[in-house]
Amino acid sequence: MNPSASKAQSTSTISYTVTFPEAQAHYADIEMHVSGLKQNILDLKMPVWTPGSYLVREFAKNIESFSAEVGGKLVASPKINKNTWRIAAKGVSEVTVKYRVYANEISVRTSYIDVSHGFLSTSGIFIYPANMLHQPSTIHIKPYKGWDKVSTSLEMVNGDPFTRVSPNYDILFDSPIEVGNQDVFGFDVSGVKYEVCMYGGGNYDKERLTKDLHNIVEHEAAIFGENPNKHYVFIVHNHLKGGGGLEHLSSTVLGASRDAYANEKGYQGFLSLAAHEHFHLWNVKRLRPIVLGPFDYDNENYTTNLWIAEGFTEYYQGIVVNRTKLYPTENYLDVLAGEFNILENLPGRNVQTVAESSFDAWIKAYRPNENSNNTTISYYNKGAIVGMMLDLEIINDSKGKYSLDDVMKYMYTEYYKTKQRGYTDAEFKKGFEKFAGKKLDDFYKKYINGLTPVDYNSYLGYAGYKVVDELADTNEPALGVVTATTANRKIIVTNVIRGTAAYIDGINVNDELVSIDDNPITDATTMLNDKKVGDKIKVSIIRDGLPLTLPVTLLRNDKVKYKIVPIDNASPQQLLVRKKWLTL
Ligand SMILES: [Zn+2]
Repeated sequence: MNPSASKAQSTSTISYTVTFPEAQAHYADIEMHVSGLKQNILDLKMPVWTPGSYLVREFAKNIESFSAEVGGKLVASPKINKNTWRIAAKGVSEVTVKYRVYANEISVRTSYIDVSHGFLSTSGIFIYPANMLHQPSTIHIKPYKGWDKVSTSLEMVNGDPFTRVSPNYDILFDSPIEVGNQDVFGFDVSGVKYEVCMYGGGNYDKERLTKDLHNIVEHEAAIFGENPNKHYVFIVHNHLKGGGGLEHLSSTVLGASRDAYANEKGYQGFLSLAAHEHFHLWNVKRLRPIVLGPFDYDNENYTTNLWIAEGFTEYYQGIVVNRTKLYPTENYLDVLAGEFNILENLPGRNVQTVAESSFDAWIKAYRPNENSNNTTISYYNKGAIVGMMLDLEIINDSKGKYSLDDVMKYMYTEYYKTKQRGYTDAEFKKGFEKFAGKKLDDFYKKYINGLTPVDYNSYLGYAGYKVVDELADTNEPALGVVTATTANRKIIVTNVIRGTAAYIDGINVNDELVSIDDNPITDATTMLNDKKVGDKIKVSIIRDGLPLTLPVTLLRNDKVKYKIVPIDNASPQQLLVRKKWLTL
């Protein structure tokens, strides 16, 4: 930003009015008013992405009927690139802009409007004047008929829930707005007011959910030593089948399945998701990689540190739910073993480091294809495993004095509170080293920037646990494909797993599996029932409409299925590490 420009523009006031005259067709109509202009050109822009979801989504694609008026008369407002409209503003102090936004994508990171509610993912709703990201704005919401509530972390103006104020655009773009008839309830934690806003109904038990969320919120605040918000909003979208979450500074949006609350697995999944997104209010929203704020809303924002921002959050969602004793420890160990199984059964673990996975999120993680499992890993998954490794290493080396909690609290205090900026990769490494009491160059070389296989037992061993592979003694053959069955019962290959028989002998994605040794295939899960490892079989397929028979030599299914179990006769040191790791 040009400082002199910002000074000249500091008298501007910006307001928006949002109406829903065609909610049934998924539209919001926006009127923006800018006054106090003192510049020759006014460029109005829409972000191309929403922070927390690392993909350029081109929100401007949903804008239509853009017009600008000065003194009640239409003026030209040509687009000069994909997300910028330009207005000649010489001698003009006030401009009114009108546009419509089509909002028909159900996800936690995109806007959705119908007659039942309006969810405004603000980075895809509000355009902003270029170079004025620091400017406050006021948002007036005029709800569709019958809607009576607004849920957002943006503060009210004069106690009016339909008029909200944003101190600057970083906060506006980080404050989603829910408008409708949502079920709102809340609780207080040490002076912080929490609101839970449920859209879409559901079989949640309000009393139990309030108690459990309260518990989670309290434990997470204890890790960082403070809760920096005054007000925090959980916006929950309940659908027939829903999922996903997106973190914000003082709120989060969670996707859930409306009937999943009543079974323990579904309920635990929801609590873990809530724990995850809420943990982000510190980890990534405040304690953040240096490039993730102030944001560049026009381009990708690259960082190698999503294994901390997302992976550690994934790690802590499990640890926190475990520590709150909502479920037995064995349950948590199964969750953790599940993370190991994901990584160990992914051929991409031998191709992509966790730092590369983070950097390339924009082009790989959010744009998967049929070969992704062979070439990529998830920074959530390996990041969570790295979190566990460092946690156990620090607890063990400090003889139970410190844990990863201390690193997180120290980094939060040092970078967010004291230096008031993000951290670099080297700075976070120093934070780990401070509490581990040793250099971690070798660890980084192997596990962050390298492809060294994780020795689970050496880390779990610190806490007197080990993994056992429940499939170690099996000798079943596998073809090495993932398939989908079409409506007319065709079995189509959707993935070919690297290193397997199918990969080596040339079965391709999109091949239709027809028969094995002339026996028709009716079910991919049973097609090898009478086969053994080493058998040479004939797989008949249809590729691009033509029949083809491929000779295939069956190999052993090398999938692992780890379970974490306690070792016999754990030493006092191991028991001490275990206690520090899994309890408060
Ligand atoms: Zn996350």
